[in-house]
Amino acid sequence: MQLLDGKALSDTIKIELKKESMALNEKGITPGLAVILVGDDAASQTYVKMKEKACDATGIYSIIHKMPSTISQTKILEIIQMINQNPNIDGVLVQLPLPKHIDTTKIIEAIDPKKDVDGFHPFNVGRLVSGLDGYVPCTPLGVMRLLKAYNIDPKGLDACVVGASNIVGKPMMNLLLNAFATVDICHIYTKNLKEHTKKADLVIVGVGKINLITEDMVKEGAIVIDIGINKTSEGKIVGDVDFEHVAPKCSYITPVPGGVGPMTIAMLLENTILAAQKR
Ligand code: NAD
Repeated sequence: MQLLDGKALSDTIKIELKKESMALNEKGITPGLAVILVGDDAASQTYVKMKEKACDATGIYSIIHKMPSTISQTKILEIIQMINQNPNIDGVLVQLPLPKHIDTTKIIEAIDPKKDVDGFHPFNVGRLVSGLDGYVPCTPLGVMRLLKAYNIDPKGLDACVVGASNIVGKPMMNLLLNAFATVDICHIYTKNLKEHTKKADLVIVGVGKINLITEDMVKEGAIVIDIGINKTSEGKIVGDVDFEHVAPKCSYITPVPGGVGPMTIAMLLENTILAAQKR
């Protein structure tokens, strides 16, 4: 069994991105990222802090628009318009989830697709589905990068994606399909999850449920990618896979933490630099 070390790979990517950022500086461009953070959800605040720190280290100027959970949808839309028109900002992301009274789709659709570094705008989603260039959501993009770094080619593999959200599972499915894997996608209403995971060469899980994937659910030699982030009652961060018992059966597996998480941030930085290069 070999660990897929997302932390080490993301550190290497960040060094390269810093160089690209410096090359942009020489042309008088400082890559800029605007983040919209609504409310005081602890996890969202932590993620935004991590993104801010990573931007600093890579030479990306970042600005956090912090708003109370009572803010109106109209006000958020106004701020997005302002960011869309700001020539010094290349990327914008809205930290999800948003409070219940805000229509998340409306907010995402207001982002200029050229600044949509999270790849959530329907324009970029459509391009991904069609196999065209565009911004791709950072977490599944990070998974593809991690596979590539370890010379794992999805072509011809039987892949099973568990979790079908717009930001994780669905784009993951499309990226794998575009890379010629045979993809099976499962969700909360899947009748017999084990029947699907057990036959897969590549199992990618992003659900948010501790120990969802157990030893009996994966075949010998499978590649297992754990996107889940969960906090145990003791405050430990774990994924969706019962790592201790599943890992010995795998050819490759991602740890949590240190697997997909750092790759997500590296891909956000990369998308932002890419947007700045297109300025
Ligand atoms: P979500 O709640 O939007 O979607 C969860 C998906 O899992 C849904 O499609 C649902 O149908 C499915 N699901 C729920 N219970 C299931 C079950 N018992 N069996 C099979 N499928 C089931 O969540 P999300 O935003 O997609 O995030 C999923 C997980 O990935 C969370 O733990 C989140 O913290 C994590 N995440 C990690 C990163 C990262 O960088 N590592 C980034 C984004 C999300």
